[in-house]
Amino acid sequence: MIKFKPAYKSVRAQQPNDLTFIFAGADILVNEDRVPSVEDTVSLLTEAGLDPESDGMFFGSIEELNCYAYDLPETFVSEEWEISAGDSFGVNQFVLLRRWVGEFEKNINTAAGYASHLLHWHKHSRFCGRCGTENNWYEKERAKRCPSCGNMQYPKISPAIIIMIQKDNKILLGHNRRFPEGRYSLLAGFMEIGETIEETAVREVREEVGIEIGNLRYISSQSWPFPDSLMLGLRADYVSGEITPDGIEIVHADWYSPETFPSIPGHGTIARKIIDEYTKTYKS
Ligand SMILES: [Zn+2]
Repeated sequence: MIKFKPAYKSVRAQQPNDLTFIFAGADILVNEDRVPSVEDTVSLLTEAGLDPESDGMFFGSIEELNCYAYDLPETFVSEEWEISAGDSFGVNQFVLLRRWVGEFEKNINTAAGYASHLLHWHKHSRFCGRCGTENNWYEKERAKRCPSCGNMQYPKISPAIIIMIQKDNKILLGHNRRFPEGRYSLLAGFMEIGETIEETAVREVREEVGIEIGNLRYISSQSWPFPDSLMLGLRADYVSGEITPDGIEIVHADWYSPETFPSIPGHGTIARKIIDEYTKTYKS
């Protein structure tokens, strides 16, 4: 199986068949379920005012092919490459990476997520947070260093929990205000300073739906680069309380079994993976 290997410095020059991960905002350029090569995109990049070689951010390799990330200028419009088609997955189109996560071959998913996270961090770490001088890339690892005060800056990763709560043999699914209409998922929330993973889970569940949980267990994790999260998947048992959505994030929540599931997140998300594992062991 092919494997994406992250790296911060290439040992060779760019070649025509290397891979280009080109973003226009949150959309990534694809040719069906593949990312195009330097050869395929040199005219697009040039048209956008970018130099394929010097403007490509090297970030690793897939087999012998180098991977480069590009951020197109927000004002760029191309006739040849359809920008923000969004709802299809065709030839030479930009698609919303978040929506299509899981649809690419797995290593392409990982690499595309890595590129998206890296570009986001790059844009948000231009200046030193301590003295305001423009940062330089650091030579020895994936980091930036302030040439004035020496302050180091590393890619920001924001951990969040996602939790499946079980009561009898049903699980809690909630509709978040930000979800598409009719979509339900497991509860999730960001960690705060000083918290353990378990404390975050208990607090988030209490805040969002007003119930108490116990018997927390870790399941698995997933990098979620939209823009910079790490999702920590947990499960827990219901202890007490009535479901009372906070109305701010969660507008409706209830207990569901696979027979009554509403629309749930797509494949490729940790939420779906956890829900599918529950479904496999479910007995009505
Ligand atoms: Zn500084």
